Amino acid sequence: MKSGFQNREGKIIVDKLIKMIHENRVYLGELDGAIGDGDHGINMDKGFSMVEKEVEGKDLTMSEALKILGNTLLEKIGGSMGPLYGTMFRSMARASKNYEIINTEVFSKMIVSAKDAVCSIGEARAGDKTMIDTLEPASASLILSVESEADLNSAVNSMLISAETGWKSTEDMVAKVGRAARLGERSRGALDAGATSCFLILESMGTTVKELLS
Ligand code: ADP
Ligand code: MG
Repeated sequence: MKSGFQNREGKIIVDKLIKMIHENRVYLGELDGAIGDGDHGINMDKGFSMVEKEVEGKDLTMSEALKILGNTLLEKIGGSMGPLYGTMFRSMARASKNYEIINTEVFSKMIVSAKDAVCSIGEARAGDKTMIDTLEPASASLILSVESEADLNSAVNSMLISAETGWKSTEDMVAKVGRAARLGERSRGALDAGATSCFLILESMGTTVKELLS
C-alpha cells in the first residue's frame, strides 16, 4: 500500500465524480423534491456534464481538473450549488496544486479548506441541515488522522464513516438555512439533498483515492 498518490495521476478522481453524479441525478432530485424545489439532481448533472466536455481527453493533474470543475460550477450553474460546490472544488484545487504527491496531510488540507470556504460563503453551521453536516465531520476526522499520522488509506476510511454518520443525521434535523428552512418543523424526517450529494462526492473521491493507492 502506497502512502500517497501522484497528483498527475489523479484526474480520474474528477472523471469518476462526473459519472457518479450522472448516475445519481434522479435520486438527488427526489430528495430535493421532498423539502426543496427538486432541482438538485438536474443542477448537479448539468454542471458536471459541462465539466466532462472541458476535461475529456486532456492530460490534467488532479488539481487542474478540480480547478476546472470548481470554475465551471461557479461560473455556469445557478441555485445554491453553483457557488457552494464551485467554491468547494476550487479550494481543493488550491490546497493541492503545489504538491506532486497527495498524502494524508495534503488530502486533509483539501477537505478542511473546502469546508472552511463553504462555511464562510454560505454561513451554514453543523446542525443546519446542509452539506456542511457531511463536510464538517469529514474534515474533523481528517484533522485527527493527520495528528495520529495515519496513512491515507485508513484516513479515507475514517473520513467516510464520519461523513456518512453526519449525512444520515440530517434526516432528523430541522433546516435552518436554504430553501428547506421555509418549511420549519416540516423539514424534519427527510435527508438533506446537499448533505447527500456531498457524501456521495466524498465517497466517490475516497474510493478512487484508495484505488490509486493500491
Ligand atoms: P437550491 O436550494 O437553490 O434549489 P440546490 O437544490 O442545488 O439549490 O441545493 C440545495 C442544497 O444546498 C441543500 O440541500 C443544502 O444542503 C445546500 N445549501 C443551501 N444553502 C446552503 C448554505 N447556505 N450553506 C451550505 N449549504 C447550503
Ligand atoms: Mg433545489
